[in-house]
Amino acid sequence: MTDPFSRLPHFTLFDAPTPLHEMTRLRAAIKEQNGTCPQLFIKRDDMTDLAGGGNKTRKLEYLIGDARKQNADTIVTAGALQSNHARQTAAAAAKAGLSSVLILFDTVPYEGAAYRRSGNLLLDNILGARLVIEGKDADPGEVFSRVMEEIISEGGTPYLIPVGGSNSIGALGYARAAGEILDQAAARKLDVTRILHASSSLGTQAGLLAGLAARASDVQVTGINVYRHDTQQMREDLVDLTEKTTERLGSRRVGAERFELVDGYLGEAYGVPTPEMKAAISTLAQAEGILLDPVYSGKAMAGLIGMIFRGEIGPDETVLFLHTGGMPGLFAYEGEFAA
Ligand SMILES: *Cc1c(COP(=O)(O)O)cnc(C)c1O
Repeated sequence: MTDPFSRLPHFTLFDAPTPLHEMTRLRAAIKEQNGTCPQLFIKRDDMTDLAGGGNKTRKLEYLIGDARKQNADTIVTAGALQSNHARQTAAAAAKAGLSSVLILFDTVPYEGAAYRRSGNLLLDNILGARLVIEGKDADPGEVFSRVMEEIISEGGTPYLIPVGGSNSIGALGYARAAGEILDQAAARKLDVTRILHASSSLGTQAGLLAGLAARASDVQVTGINVYRHDTQQMREDLVDLTEKTTERLGSRRVGAERFELVDGYLGEAYGVPTPEMKAAISTLAQAEGILLDPVYSGKAMAGLIGMIFRGEIGPDETVLFLHTGGMPGLFAYEGEFAA
């Protein structure tokens, strides 16, 4: 069988595979309180090589590949003020010798001095991105066209990457990651039953589902919703993006029963801390020496622990927690963790 990825434009940004290891001390800690605990593994996509790492790097390999194919010289993307995606895009553009413009919307209802100067924002500046910061009343469509026109009028060729890098090109990065996970599991004779991760713009989850379908694997994919209260709309978007990704990849369709988004761990809003997130971050740090982030992976870990305690994930499972990165965000939320 020919590799379906070999014909797709790609630009290498990190050294695959990322590490995968067992979390024996976390399992023991959960077992002590809960009586039972499934086998727990962690896939370290926080360790993709680029400027702090994270899941967007995998998507950017295909997005930058496409931008280069189209002879673009300026990458434009958008996100929240503390966007991990924006930071990784600035780094990827730098590595590919392209300019970057980051449109950052100051929309998260979180007050804290560090939020508006530290964390990802600090790194964006160091990485040489041009920042366009907009208030919460800005019309995203209008801002996008204004920025694109500006770049063109200055003689540049822009390439627009959507929020989170989540279109069917970006999702290819996670379709490929699904194969990487299956290969690593097979080499170690692990029968992974479930992959669990934080879901927001959905490229990670859609990509994983498409990639697993391409390998005829029925490993369950559980997305912890850290993004919005309208889960119904989110599910529809997930179905749509997964379908577009399977089409691009030429893999089989994904059955309706495979789209799992779990509620209950978002809290008040995207980017707003929850007590469960803070507890999960401390628990993992102190059990395994691994740092999560306050916006995504911390809430996803709260979801994993919560689902185990509620019996929604049984003791016979083997769960792979996908660490999607975001650690620089801890510094933006320093007030939550300061002694
Ligand atoms: C963007 C992001 C996610 C969510 O991934 P999506 O593909 O947007 O759903 C999860 N974790 C971290 C750290 C992220 O930056």
